[in-house]
Amino acid sequence: MKALALLSGGLDSSLAIRLIQNQGIEVVGLHFLIPFCRHKDVKMEKSAAKKIADSLRVKLKTEYLGQEFLKMVKNPRYGYGKNLNPCIDCKILMFKKAKKIMKEVDASFIVSGEVLGQRPMSQNKQSLKLIEKESGLKGLLLRPLSAKLLSLTIAEEKGWVKREGLEDVCGRGRNLQIKLAEKLGIREYPWPAGGCLLTDPEFCKRLKDLIKHNQFALENIELLKVGRHFRFSPTFKLVVGRDKEENERLNHLFRKGDIYFEPKEEPGPSALGRGEYDEETKLLAARIIARYTSCGQEVKIFVRILGKTQEEYLVKGSDKDIRGKMIR
Ligand code: SF4
Repeated sequence: MKALALLSGGLDSSLAIRLIQNQGIEVVGLHFLIPFCRHKDVKMEKSAAKKIADSLRVKLKTEYLGQEFLKMVKNPRYGYGKNLNPCIDCKILMFKKAKKIMKEVDASFIVSGEVLGQRPMSQNKQSLKLIEKESGLKGLLLRPLSAKLLSLTIAEEKGWVKREGLEDVCGRGRNLQIKLAEKLGIREYPWPAGGCLLTDPEFCKRLKDLIKHNQFALENIELLKVGRHFRFSPTFKLVVGRDKEENERLNHLFRKGDIYFEPKEEPGPSALGRGEYDEETKLLAARIIARYTSCGQEVKIFVRILGKTQEEYLVKGSDKDIRGKMIR
């Protein structure tokens, strides 16, 4: 007997997996890679998921959701939660994919760490039923943490899983899960609840700005995870690094058509400009870097455009240059 379990990286999915393993069932983990994960890139996200899977001793499959995920975020059938999180549509999309993968890995049912009542929109009884039905998994979706409060699933009816080995956790509190983790010997759960940036109000302000300006694309979403963001015009924005790591990340994300700024002689932030720009835009961007490098002093700023000669500006920056431009 084999089950396919959604492994988000949080505590709940680890507990759900362990409860099923304890019933003598082999579990394969499935982790979805989405453009809105908190890790800076897919590689880091994958290796974090692998670490959790190894600690639970499960094989791991990963599935990347790119364009189809964006399409769903932009126009969710069941709407958004508190921020731009379309959790019901997101779960339906993930469980539909999981259904296909369940067949590929020869699993008999699907396991999820969802907890009844934990999230007002997507984890009430009605939503859990709706998600199960819309993803074509009626009776095949077992939620071990709240199973005793939900209808019987096929796995229980057939006796593959015993109900007495499942739980009746309900609500937003974490105490029961923490106690259960101790009982089940689970120590690795580094990602607190909310590894998804669509629930982060600050990130969502930047995302709304992208949507408003018709720039809702994967490469622009990557950039939203880094730095301070300044909107100059409907077609141009500047991202300024806040530390060495962010400066390096901006350098990594620099691509054809972008414009890159860095102070020449003193330490300070790098910045990446994306969109349509003219001489005035470049000067303003250079002044903003100067503002964060040495406010009120003249600073030499280096400007790079791929495939073109580098330029240099000698500018002074002030608070006036950033006024009304920061997206927050
Ligand atoms: S929080 Fe994000 S990843 Fe989780 S269900 Fe909602 S939209 Fe999907």
